[in-house]
Amino acid sequence: MNLIKTFSKELIAWHGVDGRQGLPWQNNRDPYAVWVSEIMLQQTQVATVLERYPRFMKRFPTVKRLAAADIDEVLAEWAGLGYYSRARNLHACAKQVMEQFSGKFPSDPLLLEQLKGIGRSTAGAIAAFAFHERAPILDANVKRTLARLFCIDGALQDKKVNEQLWELASSLLPAKPDDMPIYTQALMDFGATWCTSRKPVCLTGEKKCPFAKECQSNLSDQVLLFPQKTIKAKSPEFDCDMLLLRHGNHVLLQKRPSKAIWGGLWCLPESAWVAKSMARANDATPNLKDLLTLALPHQPVAPLLKICTQLERGENIKHIFTHRHLWIQIWNIHASKAHAFSSEDLKWVTLANLGQYGLPQPIKLLLQGLSQVRGGDLKNESAFR
Ligand code: SF4
Repeated sequence: MNLIKTFSKELIAWHGVDGRQGLPWQNNRDPYAVWVSEIMLQQTQVATVLERYPRFMKRFPTVKRLAAADIDEVLAEWAGLGYYSRARNLHACAKQVMEQFSGKFPSDPLLLEQLKGIGRSTAGAIAAFAFHERAPILDANVKRTLARLFCIDGALQDKKVNEQLWELASSLLPAKPDDMPIYTQALMDFGATWCTSRKPVCLTGEKKCPFAKECQSNLSDQVLLFPQKTIKAKSPEFDCDMLLLRHGNHVLLQKRPSKAIWGGLWCLPESAWVAKSMARANDATPNLKDLLTLALPHQPVAPLLKICTQLERGENIKHIFTHRHLWIQIWNIHASKAHAFSSEDLKWVTLANLGQYGLPQPIKLLLQGLSQVRGGDLKNESAFR
């Protein structure tokens, strides 16, 4: 097929005029810098990465510095970007690179793929950008573009369809290794900005697609039928209670288990998440003893009850994850004493020091709001009552 032979040249020519230029991670052969940008760009908009990437690189300028950092420091820097397993994997991967590869990323995509958090497409991108290896990439935008160009039948989640796309992606690579960085960037940009999910340029008519005369879905007038869709189930909804336990300007935080959602982040003590259909009626107020038992099951409840008073309903926050919705009911509780029942995973933290902790975004916003309202220093306890 002619397009297979000409695709890389036409795409590189397109990038010279209409591709994204001047991104801080472009034209960089440092595999560490490429890797951080690739991980950050997964599931995060370019505009956000443009703001956060330089900050991350300033704080952790080398793989050695990142590997030596405390995981809490990494999670705190990642706060707000979501998908925290990426931050945990970055940290674990940096350690692997230091221990197994003496601090140098391997150039072989198969070895890169064995590192924590690096999938086949990311391995291809690092190998292509940093080492000019002829390795294909296949992110969601590229899958869509190829499925349209070649009218690939079947859902993208299907294993056989994926294999077919990987083969296609390999067959389209430019012959010269030195063209790999620009080609890879161009492929990413084309799918992200021109052959977009809902408004590809061939349908909007805003711009002239360089592949319009060869793209099989365009020629057969079926662009939006590719890639073929799978029917998504409705996102399940969950409920949980969180305790905002405060003493003056101190708040009690609990470290989440590393394998859970928001793994390794610091959060408010919370009850288990239950399906919304099983949850308590919205207007029912639980008693303090039950709440403390649910959220702090490893603490003896009698001493807790001695210092915890004034249960008050707080905000009800809806947080949307990719595959689920979580309703968080905040319960304000006054503690007559701070520094009681602290442990490795349970800490009293001052509002002014919250920045040192990686917090889930909704909890960060809630506590930042308190910090601003109270000026970070609640000397007058009655303000809380
Ligand atoms: S013609 Fe349309 S569907 Fe085909 S590659 Fe171009 S923008 Fe994408």
